[in-house]
Amino acid sequence: MESNNLFERVMHFNKLYREREGEQCKCCLPKYPREKVAILTCMDTRLTLQLEKALGLDRGDAIELKTAGNNMRGQELRSLIVAIFALKVDKIMVIGHPDCGMANLDVEILTEKMIARGVEPKAIEELGDLKEWFETFCDSKDNVIDMVDLLKKHPLIPRDIEIAGFNFNQDTSELIHIC
Ligand SMILES: [Zn+2]
Repeated sequence: MESNNLFERVMHFNKLYREREGEQCKCCLPKYPREKVAILTCMDTRLTLQLEKALGLDRGDAIELKTAGNNMRGQELRSLIVAIFALKVDKIMVIGHPDCGMANLDVEILTEKMIARGVEPKAIEELGDLKEWFETFCDSKDNVIDMVDLLKKHPLIPRDIEIAGFNFNQDTSELIHIC
């Protein structure tokens, strides 16, 4: 059965997968990341398998938090707090990348698209300053520096947590230590 609907396709695949793999379906990865590190990086599809491979990390070594533009201000920060206090993380890597979709994001065009798709203008107004709400930025390296600075000074993050910022080039796999 081949369906054009992705949800139907994944449900179908999942059934076949479990039948085929049997006992292999049991997860063998640790709940607590082996290297005690949380990686805060962008949700960009280009930063998944390639990033882990290029850093010499295996699945289970790190907690990976992926957000648009590797930003984690406001309420999203709770994932890092949980990683530190419940999942034994003691190091944080913030990893940005070139050609990020969040760099120079035009919030006016985005707003127009939201309204055209039926989002109530009032709901958008309630977000306040949209550039701030979307955490847009001009330069991905500066954004990493700002994020590391914010985390190092954050009152909810203990001072003994090691925090560093990097830039990962998805085209060359080069990792640069920024701060
Ligand atoms: Zn990005």
